[in-house]
Amino acid sequence: MSTAEQYAGSCLCGAVRYEIHGKIGDIMQCHCSKCRKANGSAYAANAPVARADFRFTAGEDALKKFASSAGTQRCFCGHCGSPIISIKAETPDFYRLRIGTLDTPLAQRPVCHIFAASKAEWEQIADDLPQYAERP
Ligand SMILES: [Zn+2]
Ligand SMILES: [Zn+2]
Repeated sequence: MSTAEQYAGSCLCGAVRYEIHGKIGDIMQCHCSKCRKANGSAYAANAPVARADFRFTAGEDALKKFASSAGTQRCFCGHCGSPIISIKAETPDFYRLRIGTLDTPLAQRPVCHIFAASKAEWEQIADDLPQYAERP
């Protein structure tokens, strides 16, 4: 990667594609019950991306949105169900990217676990990253 950071990503079926021209913020592994449901897994790996740096290059019309709470919209591919971003009303300038959809290799590593108090009883967090009971 040269001076400007640039990333690309897509959903499982490839209908939805996006590019990021800018920085990907701190990766947090969210263990809240909603992220677990939305991902069908132990946690979601999410990172903030400035809305101004993010654009859909294909399939924006295939996106479906679900309001999982009053202030949060989760956007996923309507064909294959891949979660792509969430949008929080309280931080309208940022998307929370589901970094598992990136196609570009990412040099950075997760920084912490959030909503660790809500983690699945069967999950063992096996690294030394800080764990926060909720969002710090
Ligand atoms: Zn898809
Ligand atoms: Zn969550």
